[in-house]
Amino acid sequence: MSIHLLPIDVIHLIAAGEVIDSLAAVVRELCENAIDAGASRVTVSLFPDQWRIQVADNGTGIELADLQVAATAHSTSKIDDREDLFHITSLGFRGEALHSLAQLANLEIYSRPRYSGDGWHLVYNHQGEVTRQQEVAIAPGTVINIENLFGAWEARREGLPNLNQQLRQVQAVIYHLALCYPQISWTIEQQHRPWFQIVGSKTSQQIIPQLLPKVRVDDLQYVELNIPAFNQTEDRPNLEPIFYNRTADFSAPAEDSIEEAKIQLTLGLPDRCHRHRLDWVKVAVNGRIVRAPELEQTIVSALARTLPRDRYPVCFLHLQIPPHYIDWNRHPAKVEIYLQQIEYWQSQVLRAIDSALNLDPEEINDRDTSITSRIGKLLAVAEQQGAYHIPNRSISPTFNDGDGLGLLELRAVGQVHNTYIIAEHSDGLWLVEQHIAHERVLYEQISAAWQLLPLEPPIILSHLTERQIEQLQDIGLTIDPFGEGLWAIRTAPAPLLMREDLAAAITELSWGGDLQAAQVAVACRCAIRNGTTLSLPEMQSLLDRWQRTRNPRTCPHGRPIYLSFKESSLARAFRRHWVIGKSHGI
Ligand SMILES: [Zn+2]
Repeated sequence: MSIHLLPIDVIHLIAAGEVIDSLAAVVRELCENAIDAGASRVTVSLFPDQWRIQVADNGTGIELADLQVAATAHSTSKIDDREDLFHITSLGFRGEALHSLAQLANLEIYSRPRYSGDGWHLVYNHQGEVTRQQEVAIAPGTVINIENLFGAWEARREGLPNLNQQLRQVQAVIYHLALCYPQISWTIEQQHRPWFQIVGSKTSQQIIPQLLPKVRVDDLQYVELNIPAFNQTEDRPNLEPIFYNRTADFSAPAEDSIEEAKIQLTLGLPDRCHRHRLDWVKVAVNGRIVRAPELEQTIVSALARTLPRDRYPVCFLHLQIPPHYIDWNRHPAKVEIYLQQIEYWQSQVLRAIDSALNLDPEEINDRDTSITSRIGKLLAVAEQQGAYHIPNRSISPTFNDGDGLGLLELRAVGQVHNTYIIAEHSDGLWLVEQHIAHERVLYEQISAAWQLLPLEPPIILSHLTERQIEQLQDIGLTIDPFGEGLWAIRTAPAPLLMREDLAAAITELSWGGDLQAAQVAVACRCAIRNGTTLSLPEMQSLLDRWQRTRNPRTCPHGRPIYLSFKESSLARAFRRHWVIGKSHGI
């Protein structure tokens, strides 16, 4: 589609808050244009002392006729009329970006279309009119050069934060684009010197380790689900049809049209990677990082009992859904959005999280704990060789919906220190801590069905404080005064009912915590203690039940449950490749 003028009513529909007010905003506008042009490489060069920004891409390039009107008021190649505005899928739909940039700075564009013709260099005045035009020999793609930004807008320059903060904003813009468009390779320079680089790859699983240096590809799990957007199947009869009530003349798509949506989730495995702040739960919708509070909440609560205390997940969720589900205008700068049928999307996100947390045999076999060289090194080598993907073995498999995850066949072979179960499987062996594995099993049972049963006779406790009584009532127990300083507990959580330490257990619950914490405490109390001797069938049964939990990786306190020894690592440790003679059992 070529660039043309926008009808005036469409212009007015575009959120008015769109202004270019920072270095980062310029970088974002130009990079989004590069992405829309289908670029696979983008180079951003910053010269802050000259207020100069240059963005070069290898995208489709712009024809001369389009270049001539590219910076005039309200031209865009992305929207035809108001109907299109509600089907927005491309990023730079505002159309005014180049015009605004011409007003705010000195603008010049070099461009050569990928499949035809010559390269052109155009210089624009502050009205966006072409003042110079000449043919140039350049590679296909587009280079946009912005100089003397805000030169005539002293107040805007003065309103900006210090340079370091501005550069951090620029970095955040690039990081977010890199997550949303993992296939693109980014080179960012300052004053002709390399600043940072992100090597394009298949999914954001390979991007995150380039942004968070302590995280390895192995610490992350990538899941992709294709889901129907229009879910009219019988198991979800309550989903209402979408209402097209924004404009009277807006026609809905045919009732029977089946639309596809996609969820891409990269999740830090809770036994391996988490943050001390809630700063890495990122949600993108159709290529743009947004604030989607409902979805962020879904992710955080789904992982609440899998992470250690006061630790937070690493998670990047990318939803690709039909645009009419999205209302971008919840916030004028389009950073916060509202999704229609939010419960449906939340349930699909939970499904994706569940798949990511499973113990999948392939994924486990793919792990090679001996890869110590930093991912950056691998990537740098790949970059030099011009191969834009990292070695296959570090890429975990992608599940498509319906593949089924399968379970690793674990066989209990013994017990160490009456604490660890040794389990073997076709590719190695695991040590599983018996208490926390059992605790995970019980916790999931208890939280799925929290049952309070009558105590006959009641348990009588003394010296309970007001707060303890309230706490017990909060988690659902029935308590009556029973005399001077005595209280009768008339109901108790089902798993505790037959226990001899029931009174102690209830006292423990009275000390505080929410319902979830109470459920964890009950699970912990009822789980097999470490130090208990188990028979092989008992161990096997525990392993089987534990493997089938929703999140077998960590206990409800966030501690890892198992330690894996891969056969290939053992072979290396014992130097089994030293072929000396057949007598060594090789
Ligand atoms: Zn415990």
